Amino acid sequence: MQNVFKIIWVLSCMLLTLHANEKVYKLKMATTWGPTLSPLIDAANNMATMAEKLSNGQLQIRIDTANKHKAPLGILDMVKAGQYDMGHSASYYWKGKDINTLPFTSMPFGLTSPEQYAWFYHGGGLELMQKVYDKHQVYSFPGGSTGVQMGGWFRQEIKTLDDLKGLKMRIPGFAGEIMARLGVQVTNIAPGELYTALDTNSIDALEWVGPSMDITMGFHKIAPFYYTGWHEPASEMHFIINQKAYKKLPKHLQDVLVVSMRLAAYDMYIQNYDMNANAWEKMKKEFPNITVKTFPKPIMDAMKKVNEALIEEMTQENALLKEVLDSQKAYQKKVRVWTQMSDYLYLKDNL
Ligand code: CA
Repeated sequence: MQNVFKIIWVLSCMLLTLHANEKVYKLKMATTWGPTLSPLIDAANNMATMAEKLSNGQLQIRIDTANKHKAPLGILDMVKAGQYDMGHSASYYWKGKDINTLPFTSMPFGLTSPEQYAWFYHGGGLELMQKVYDKHQVYSFPGGSTGVQMGGWFRQEIKTLDDLKGLKMRIPGFAGEIMARLGVQVTNIAPGELYTALDTNSIDALEWVGPSMDITMGFHKIAPFYYTGWHEPASEMHFIINQKAYKKLPKHLQDVLVVSMRLAAYDMYIQNYDMNANAWEKMKKEFPNITVKTFPKPIMDAMKKVNEALIEEMTQENALLKEVLDSQKAYQKKVRVWTQMSDYLYLKDNL
């Protein structure tokens, strides 16, 4: 008799496992981006497609773009509240709500994309990110990097610090604060109105992303000085997941999700690399008067100084932010030696 019970128990366990392996789990994800904003929206779509394929259809992720939910910058709130299970956005969009989310996107003069991925996955960055996001009851994962962003399009050449005084520029976030301290009149204009603002002299300069995404905006047609980057050397997008929604998934689907996010992030980085190369080739061919410039050293030095001062102010009474920024700084110091020995010297001698 005892054996019969044992057999029934084993059979029940097998049926339960079978059931868990067959049940379809559906998640809803909101993105900051519209349906055509490559490569950002592609990272979200690729992740969902991969998760479905790798799980043999058991994990299905429905994506609502900003056109549907109408709250492009409200992704953290919606995922936190459980209105959506997941989100794809960029961590620094929430710096107004929680300043500690800022460093996980990119910091001026900070890590490059390969360095930052190394920090996330092998240098303690991911753990620090979960520590910051825990109070919002979500998990956060890297979601694709734009690589080095360009410093922006300027109608006039910037030769001295005086040229920055009173200059009207769209440059959001932390970099905007740096520019403001150097006398720039920083403005915030909706993306759809940027071209007209530049064309009608409402602004003198703006930064967007890089050739891959700038080309469709058309700024190069009216502001020919294209400055190299300093402010967003590795802008990382993020997938966020409501902790309860994540815990409801069986272990193997959690694994599928984590692997899909990691692969989609990497794929966006290289997709954007390719898009940049193609867009730049086309842009330069059609508008040969575009001039690539780097800010003169005195300007760069002033930016670095303000950057340090602002970080000092921000971290004075914020131990967690200090922990994150100190971790990035220490990692950068170590990893940059290798970057210099490898990529930098290789390129320097082979251009
Ligand atoms: Ca930007």
